[in-house]
Amino acid sequence: MTGRKETFTSVAPGAVKIYTCGPTVYDFAHVGNFRAYLFEDLLKRFLLFMGYHVTHIMNITDIDDKTIRGANARGVSLAEYTRDYIDSFFADLKTLNIAPADRYPRATEHIPEMVAIVKGLIQKGFAYEKDGSYYFSIAKFPSYGRLSKINREELQPGRRVDLDEYEKESVHDFALWKAKKEGEPFWETEIGPGRPGWHIECSAMSSKYLGETFDIHCGGVDNIFPHHENEIAQSEAFTGKKFVNYWLHCHHLIRDGEKMSKSRGNTITIPEILKAKNNPAALRFLLLSTHYRKTLNFTFEALDQAETALNRINEFAGEVKYGEFPEGEIQAVGQIIKEAEKKFRDGLSDDLNISVAVTALFNLIKKVNVAIARGDFRSQDAQKADRFMSSINQVLGVTSPRKSVTVRVDPLSAKFSVPPQRVIVTDEITAQQKGKIERRQKARAEKDFALADKIRRELLEDGIVLEDTKDGVRWKIVPVSKKQE
Ligand SMILES: [Zn+2]
Repeated sequence: MTGRKETFTSVAPGAVKIYTCGPTVYDFAHVGNFRAYLFEDLLKRFLLFMGYHVTHIMNITDIDDKTIRGANARGVSLAEYTRDYIDSFFADLKTLNIAPADRYPRATEHIPEMVAIVKGLIQKGFAYEKDGSYYFSIAKFPSYGRLSKINREELQPGRRVDLDEYEKESVHDFALWKAKKEGEPFWETEIGPGRPGWHIECSAMSSKYLGETFDIHCGGVDNIFPHHENEIAQSEAFTGKKFVNYWLHCHHLIRDGEKMSKSRGNTITIPEILKAKNNPAALRFLLLSTHYRKTLNFTFEALDQAETALNRINEFAGEVKYGEFPEGEIQAVGQIIKEAEKKFRDGLSDDLNISVAVTALFNLIKKVNVAIARGDFRSQDAQKADRFMSSINQVLGVTSPRKSVTVRVDPLSAKFSVPPQRVIVTDEITAQQKGKIERRQKARAEKDFALADKIRRELLEDGIVLEDTKDGVRWKIVPVSKKQE
């Protein structure tokens, strides 16, 4: 609201109430929508990490202009039309390891609560009726436009708009309740037959579950106008109290440098991305690691880079979790971990500065790896590092420590006079697969690169990635991409 960073103080000490605008289930949510849900997840997990009790409500908009249009075009009921989109939304939340909200209220199940607010607004003189519909009179609410910083000269009070979405250029009185119309679902209510406008839905559901004044309201920047502006007007006019203390909005996601939109045909869903590269944790890491107030450019190259970075984190997490080190501890290592902890916390405390937090993590990995290589690392240091890794993963939700075992493949070096080859085992594989790796090593030693390449590709189909390093061949198991149905 102020356009500045502010110190956060919750309404009730130690507890935070958050409302995040959920999906409008007229289509499959795309990766841009999930960028917003992931930023909200980071915020929530960080507040939990800082010891707050968090109550999180995310609504499902299962009735609005777009869902009605879609259902009519397909010739099915609204409930039937939205069902698949709701199911896939929940499936994607799970895939991306987004911590569930406390509730996911649906608009169609809160019609009486919406009607009560419209009635109250009529009684207080903020709303008026026209042809069975009810509109909010923006002229009656002098602070209208504060969130979106609207030029007040552009206000056109008295003129009405029936659509849920409209441009900032012509600000009108907006529809709270839309009169019954041919081909639209409707409810018989005290204010007549009809259905809610989109904005009243969030005012009704947020106050029902979080109270009239709550701490944080989130959404994408597209929600600022008109949606959140109208929520503020309705709620504050109705209760006479401040609606929300802090507003946080996530910036756009663009794809290959272009705005992602249905009309450009460049939207992409979570399952579509995972069909091309089945690594949900890497996708989560990519979407989290750009600050929420910056535009994020989604490319598959960026996803590859996120995967590489994540592999490094997982290998490190595996090393400190499963590695064997001499008894004892080394003070300098404890200091490195302490510093990283502080930087991680301070970074995220500063308006969720994820770059600072992730840099703190990679600096720790670098410094500790040097300590390990020098032999300046002990079992108690490993325990501390392991605790650090799992505690920050409560916030990031991306790591799964990878077990590493080193195996010497001696026969090869003996037979083919190549340097001792090591196979660094990161997961269990079958004897047959191990045999293939050895045959490939042999082929390489004999300079039969065609055969070596063929075997490498076969192993890749099993989800085994080979990396030739100066210490020998290293392999790891990656999730195999789902075959096209
Ligand atoms: Zn909303």
